[in-house]
Amino acid sequence: MGDWQAMRTAMRAEATVDLAALRSNVETLRARASGAALMAVVKADAYGHGALPCAREALLAGATWLGTATPEEALALRAAGIGPDQARVLCWLWTPGGPWAEALRASVDVSVSARWALDELLAAVGETGVPARVHLKADTGLGRNGCQPHDWPDLVAAARRAEAGGLLRIAGVWSHLAAADEPGHPSIRAQLTAFDEAVAHAEAQGARLEVRHLANSPATLLLPETHHDLVRTGLALYGLSPVPEVGSPADFGLRPVMTLEARLASVKRVPGGHGVSYGHHYTTPGETTLGLVPVGYADGIPRHASGTGPVQVAGKWRTAAGRVAMDQFVVDLGGDSAEPGDTAVLFGPGDRGEPTAEDWARACGTIAYEIVTRIGVRVPRRHVNGTAGTGAGGQEGITRHGQ
Ligand SMILES: *Cc1c(COP(=O)(O)O)cnc(C)c1O
Repeated sequence: MGDWQAMRTAMRAEATVDLAALRSNVETLRARASGAALMAVVKADAYGHGALPCAREALLAGATWLGTATPEEALALRAAGIGPDQARVLCWLWTPGGPWAEALRASVDVSVSARWALDELLAAVGETGVPARVHLKADTGLGRNGCQPHDWPDLVAAARRAEAGGLLRIAGVWSHLAAADEPGHPSIRAQLTAFDEAVAHAEAQGARLEVRHLANSPATLLLPETHHDLVRTGLALYGLSPVPEVGSPADFGLRPVMTLEARLASVKRVPGGHGVSYGHHYTTPGETTLGLVPVGYADGIPRHASGTGPVQVAGKWRTAAGRVAMDQFVVDLGGDSAEPGDTAVLFGPGDRGEPTAEDWARACGTIAYEIVTRIGVRVPRRHVNGTAGTGAGGQEGITRHGQ
């Protein structure tokens, strides 16, 4: 305990991940999911929050599925000891030559959108002798991954033949929405209809599906007709609103999980008319105090936050003065006194008056997804309020380099 406590006070920057908030968000989302099972989407290192501790806590709070984009992310969960008895794990972003055999051996469910993927999967089934669990993905209108309607009968027929031969089980049919975050968007109704047709076709061909799934976070919160058997929630799990123009996290009963803080690396008086940071895009309007916040775009602070990013220092909101550099940016503290080592809160839940990830998103012209996901590996994550024995200390643990 003492060791990391000492390390912590010496910390340049730190992202605190509140696992109690994560568990509470899981419960909120389950209550919203119309009885559907909940998949905790933990791709991209749980949107920057740490995949393993977040996966474990989400399972404790009632999630029964874990979702990742890449097979490597799914395999890492299994390698860390999250067994098939604890969670089904689905990954959906395959490229030719992917680790199909490893996924089979690790009991990872796989998504298949096209014949090439089915062929590679079946070759791996032949090699390992392990039957696959497959989720056939229909492109119901997103135009990203997934099988187009004109190729669907062929893909379903090939999968059914393999199923009849004992090589795989068609566990699910699924798809992804294009505009769940825009309630009333005409694509939602069209995608629901196309999804029903894809499911009906698979079932007519004899598929006995365990799960039909379509809903992401915004659909889980706003579109009960999309819930089906399983909802796949990412952003909302981390307590951020996927539809900030419709409601804040609190409006949905969610609590932001990540707090990002740094400690001032320099505090100094400068005269008026002093240029600040590269290109001198900020000039001090008069004699003032500058504080140096030791995080930059290498830590995931968007360069687009130059002149706009909000930071709370000594209870007051300040704005990134001039350009955000690779490792640092400057705030003008006005006449206020401060000391090197004082805390600068970049974002948090907002209830201590600090900015939120959504405030950063707005300041940078992006979405909160990108703000939290991009926090870099140089920023240690400190997981607090865990119950699943996360990290070295059980209740609390500091992790570096993402994991
Ligand atoms: C990332 C992702 C999700 C989760 O989306 P959120 O909006 O973060 O809930 C769900 N399904 C798929 C296919 C995804 O890629």
